[in-house]
Amino acid sequence: MLGTGDLIARIKKLYERNPVANKVVESIKVLGKEVSRELGRSVKIMNFCGTHEWTITHYGLRTLMPDEVELIAGPGCPVCVTPGHYVEGLAKLSFEGVTVLTYGDAYRLPARRGSRYGSLAEARAEGGDVKVVYSFLDAIKLARSEPSKEHVFFAVGFETTMPSTAQPLVAGAVPDNLTILSAYRLTPPVMKYLLEAVKDVILDGIIAPGHVSAVIGANAWSFIPEEYGIPTVVSGFEPLDVLLSIHAILRMLKQGKPALINEYARVATPEGNKQAKKAIAEAHDTVDAYWRGVGVIPKSGATLRKKYEGRDATVKYGINAQADFTDVMPGCKCGEVVLGKAKPTDCPHFMKTCTPTKPYGPCMVSQEGTCRIWAENLPALLEQLRKL
Ligand code: SF4
Repeated sequence: MLGTGDLIARIKKLYERNPVANKVVESIKVLGKEVSRELGRSVKIMNFCGTHEWTITHYGLRTLMPDEVELIAGPGCPVCVTPGHYVEGLAKLSFEGVTVLTYGDAYRLPARRGSRYGSLAEARAEGGDVKVVYSFLDAIKLARSEPSKEHVFFAVGFETTMPSTAQPLVAGAVPDNLTILSAYRLTPPVMKYLLEAVKDVILDGIIAPGHVSAVIGANAWSFIPEEYGIPTVVSGFEPLDVLLSIHAILRMLKQGKPALINEYARVATPEGNKQAKKAIAEAHDTVDAYWRGVGVIPKSGATLRKKYEGRDATVKYGINAQADFTDVMPGCKCGEVVLGKAKPTDCPHFMKTCTPTKPYGPCMVSQEGTCRIWAENLPALLEQLRKL
């Protein structure tokens, strides 16, 4: 756990490694005050991505902001929004002769309320056949090594991870005894939903996700400045990347010229990865999808196309998500945290009945979950909270 002393050392190191960081921070302070004066309130900048939230919290970037600039964590944690119904269905299957393969961060994801098993980890502890894999290729190898056994892969993620299943699928490299439960969620639709349907969240600038943009292309975010007039920066993940992105947003606000800037051009091209996009389009259909704790978001999910229904676990085993919110634990504010409407510290369970070692809600499970990130940086976070 990161302490306040560690935090100061990290900020010192950041300045030593990047002499320009100090200048950027000083300029953010001046610009932030000016823009806030013009707005008549604090400037609200959302970082979409869980990895950006990690950088901001770990390096204490909130402590470097002027009081007039607020950094708000966004919906960038796919595990946090994965329906508990999927976990319930997979846990049940693991006792019915099917091997369930999952990434480590979905292993402890809580199931729907009232489920026989609280998570896949619990199912395994009670004898369920659940295995943690590091990649879909591992899942393919495992399925091939046990040809007489059925396997199902729990595919959780955003566009970043979709090519890992789509490419082997369209290449015909997925063995017959391996199906995919596609729990994939799409990022531009949730951003659109936030800007249109969530009325009580005001955003003046968006730090768009870098990893996702490497696949779908930085231009995927051009609708934000064009349709909503909000400055947007596709950002890298080093602390200096994030500082430069905040600076660019404030500069655009000051000039009254909202645009899309690609600060992460070293990795994300305007068009993205054409091969990966082609495989995704060939493997998946876009559908309305339920986001845990949030609700149904139009065109925000990806199912397998009909031609791959033999590989589709929702077809083969009938596991589907219900938008009935029975996967939201009483008192858990994860859905609000995901939308930037609440902070983890607003939740009565935070670090009491919900901790990284015993997560009660889904935002405490994954390394990309805001509650988990805040929990693991707690002493330093208290310092940062004085800025909020
Ligand atoms: S601290 Fe736990 S219970 Fe509270 S919002 Fe976060 S994940 Fe949910």
